[in-house]
Amino acid sequence: MRKRVSGAAVAATGTWTDPDGVRMPAGEVHAWERGTNQTVCRLQLSRQGLTRFPHVTWADVQPATGRDADAVTSVCRRCAAGTGTRRDEKPWRRENPRP
Ligand SMILES: [Zn+2]
Repeated sequence: MRKRVSGAAVAATGTWTDPDGVRMPAGEVHAWERGTNQTVCRLQLSRQGLTRFPHVTWADVQPATGRDADAVTSVCRRCAAGTGTRRDEKPWRRENPRP
């Protein structure tokens, strides 16, 4: 059984800097728990070349609802499954579940 994660931050394959000079995730995003060096789907950050974004929450990069998802091209499904799709957790997305 997968450990539940709440308040996860983000690790991504790419980065960009917003007009305020804040680094933002781009490309594929994974959920990452601060203080660890692997993603929720158990990728090693350094080995995969993923960049950490401790100031960006997983909720913020969900394309449907997040405010920092502009440059996100894909969301890791395994991380999504490990973070917040259960009914008893905070819903990250609107009520239009995909098949
Ligand atoms: Zn992942």
